[in-house]
Amino acid sequence: MSPKSVFDVYGNSQEVRAVERRTLLETLAKQLPVDSICFSSKLARIEEHKYGETLLELVNDYPDGQPFGQRVNYIYGQGIRAGYVPVSPTKVYWFVCFNSPSPGPKITDPIVLKKQTKELIKKWPSELQNIVDATPDDTIIWTPLVDRWLWPGFSPPASLGGAVLVGDAWHPMTPNLGQGACCALEDAVVLVQKLAPALKAGPMAIEDALRSYQTERWPQIFPMTVRANVVGAVLQLENPVVCAVRDNVLVPKLIRLGLMLEHTNFEFEPLPQTRV
Ligand SMILES: Cc1cc2nc3c(=O)[nH]c(=O)nc-3n(C[C@H](O)[C@H](O)[C@H](O)COP(=O)(O)OP(=O)(O)OC[C@H]3O[C@@H](n4cnc5c(N)ncnc54)[C@H](O)[C@@H]3O)c2cc1C
Repeated sequence: MSPKSVFDVYGNSQEVRAVERRTLLETLAKQLPVDSICFSSKLARIEEHKYGETLLELVNDYPDGQPFGQRVNYIYGQGIRAGYVPVSPTKVYWFVCFNSPSPGPKITDPIVLKKQTKELIKKWPSELQNIVDATPDDTIIWTPLVDRWLWPGFSPPASLGGAVLVGDAWHPMTPNLGQGACCALEDAVVLVQKLAPALKAGPMAIEDALRSYQTERWPQIFPMTVRANVVGAVLQLENPVVCAVRDNVLVPKLIRLGLMLEHTNFEFEPLPQTRV
């Protein structure tokens, strides 16, 4: 039996139209007042009130609003540190980062992860413990932090043939400066700026554009990767005396994150409109 085409199945009276999910969602969302849709919220319960209102209870970290204000909070220990920062009116991002001789087994069970985390921070402020307790199980992950230093002359190039790397695929860095995704976005911008004119000029120009992309991005990326690693190492020192100097002198009096990140200011012209 020969396979039936879609047209055969629907007949002449019907037609099939495919719509990209994102386009559909965005088109629908634009028709509603700003902030009237709450994305990525799990529904826990629907409650009917006696006067006809319906109450939807969503699973958020802080359904009544998180109380922390717009600031990043850091706590340093010996070989361990933690931090938390609000990312929306009802959600707080937190991390606990510790030295380990090896990545160890991959743990995905949130119950185990929460238990281990609480054990690590048991002597730290209860505020942090409460944040861990309030975290929905399906949002906790554990991952080893790794980086790749792009030593000149030793590291593979960012592009080969027509393939080119951006972001973590080229230069994973530890998240100590919060710059990995920022760098990935900058890579993409520079790549488009280089490629757009080259696409009109032919294969040689494209190869030049890819090389030029690597040449322009490397001086930003290599020092950043090293700096992020060094910052992480300093913040996770284990010697108690050195930690005391770090906590009482280095961090409060000498380190200014704004200065350390000044070179991350990135400005660019509007991107060229190109159809490939
Ligand atoms: C704990 C932590 C905190 C961080 N905090 C910050 C921060 O505050 N600020 C910041 O700027 N950055 C931060 N980063 C770094 C940031 O998350 C990464 O730099 C960023 O996600 C890199 O983006 P990417 O698109 O290059 O790679 P990814 O986000 O890793 O995306 C790659 C995608 O490719 C997919 N993929 C992999 N292999 C294949 C395959 N063979 N075929 C098809 N698809 C594949 C993966 O599933 C993934 O979806 C943090 C990272 C960590 C781990």
